Amino acid sequence: MLAYLLIIVIAFTAVAFTLIQLVGEYLFRQRIADDTKTAHTLAQAVAQPFSDWDADELRRQALRFCEGEDQRVLVLDRYGVVQADTSSLLNGTRFAAVEVQQVLDGNADAYGYYAMGEGEGWLSMLTQRGATGVFAAAVENQGETIGALVYMSNAGQIYESLEDMQMRITLWIVLVAFAVLVMSLFVLRRITGPLAELNEGIQLMSRGDFSARVNVPGRNEFAQLGNAFNNMSERLEKLDQSRNQFVSNASHELKTPLATMKIMLQSVQMGGDDMPAELRNEFLNDVDKEIDRLTGIVGDLLTLVNIDSGGMQLNRELFSLRDMVQDQYKRLLPLARERGIETECIARDVAEVDGDLSKLSQVVYNVIDNAIKYTQRGGSVRVELTRSGRKAVVKIADTGIGIPESDLTHIFDRFYRVDKARSRETGGTGLGLSIVKQIVNLHDGDITVTSVENQGSTFTITLPLANK
Ligand code: ADP
Repeated sequence: MLAYLLIIVIAFTAVAFTLIQLVGEYLFRQRIADDTKTAHTLAQAVAQPFSDWDADELRRQALRFCEGEDQRVLVLDRYGVVQADTSSLLNGTRFAAVEVQQVLDGNADAYGYYAMGEGEGWLSMLTQRGATGVFAAAVENQGETIGALVYMSNAGQIYESLEDMQMRITLWIVLVAFAVLVMSLFVLRRITGPLAELNEGIQLMSRGDFSARVNVPGRNEFAQLGNAFNNMSERLEKLDQSRNQFVSNASHELKTPLATMKIMLQSVQMGGDDMPAELRNEFLNDVDKEIDRLTGIVGDLLTLVNIDSGGMQLNRELFSLRDMVQDQYKRLLPLARERGIETECIARDVAEVDGDLSKLSQVVYNVIDNAIKYTQRGGSVRVELTRSGRKAVVKIADTGIGIPESDLTHIFDRFYRVDKARSRETGGTGLGLSIVKQIVNLHDGDITVTSVENQGSTFTITLPLANK
């Protein structure tokens, strides 16, 4: 911050210095031009009386321009001898200034500046204060130089007005620099404040604290950045929470079958040779089932991780949704019969879809499987395929146990089960529907559910039909 202020101060000083120099130079040139002009006007005015040797008129004309004691006019003949002096001091003496010589030698005009006390002795007599400007102009009669006119002005005036102007400019620049300084401090504070806040938030986040939020009020870019930061940290916090939840749920799911297997194997070990072969086989069968369950869970977890990391590739192909739905329905018919559940499948439209046949088959299988699993003996499951505009709609309705309204919004969450005990009994992990939803979404489709407790549920899968 200090570096910025230093740059501002240096820049201002440089600008001020150049400005003063330029204005000073301009004023000085202006003054020289004015005084040279005055010398010429005077030379013209005295030309006639000078050639007529009219001394009174000469003096009168010369005095016309000498308003104050700072100005003085000398009229010299072609030998440099003073013929008229408005101060009457140098009359009859030779005035040996370089400028006079230059004019007598043929130049139209010449000027020079002298500080008091410098130069020839006569200079100190010219004026009592400050530096003196000597402006000489040729006095001409019919194009011939007949003498010289010297107009003297107090150069000190120029320096005084220059100093005065410098003072004003310096004052203004100091004022402006001060205002700029105050404004930059104000702007810097407005910039550094939000930046410090954001920096603190980022530090907290990098230490793993996703609850970090920043407070940048207003509507400017910093406030927008602050909002973006808060949105990001909020999302990360949610992701972190769901990841922790996922890991703890997954561990829990894996722990249960492992614990069951350990107990069973210990029982077989302890039973030794005395254990009846039948009982031993039963235990080993249960272990086998638990291993299948574990394999299922691990498979589901891998699928979800694959989807999350964006690694799930869809092997798209054109296929008939009708055929696929009927195939899955048929695969599950034996299970439905075994459980005493009536079934029906109505699918007339071919409904061609461009998608991953194997993954969408898994979707339809899972939803019909759930419908059978969560329906009591004597109930019914009905599968129906229809078309709505450019979309295919698969409805799987059951007259089963239904889902309480409060659970409906969570039904597609990972590991979510309405009744854990019942779900485990039926071999569920609570991952099926979340995988189903992800696969349907990957196909630009949608899955929704409506349900009434103890009356049944209806799952509706919508998929875009293939463009033909
Ligand atoms: P699970 O492997 O436990 O079946 P899902 O993700 O497939 O896991 O389903 C999540 C939960 O949704 C189930 O545990 C169950 O409580 C509920 N559910 C799913 N389908 C139905 C249905 N047809 N009828 C009633 N409840 C259902």
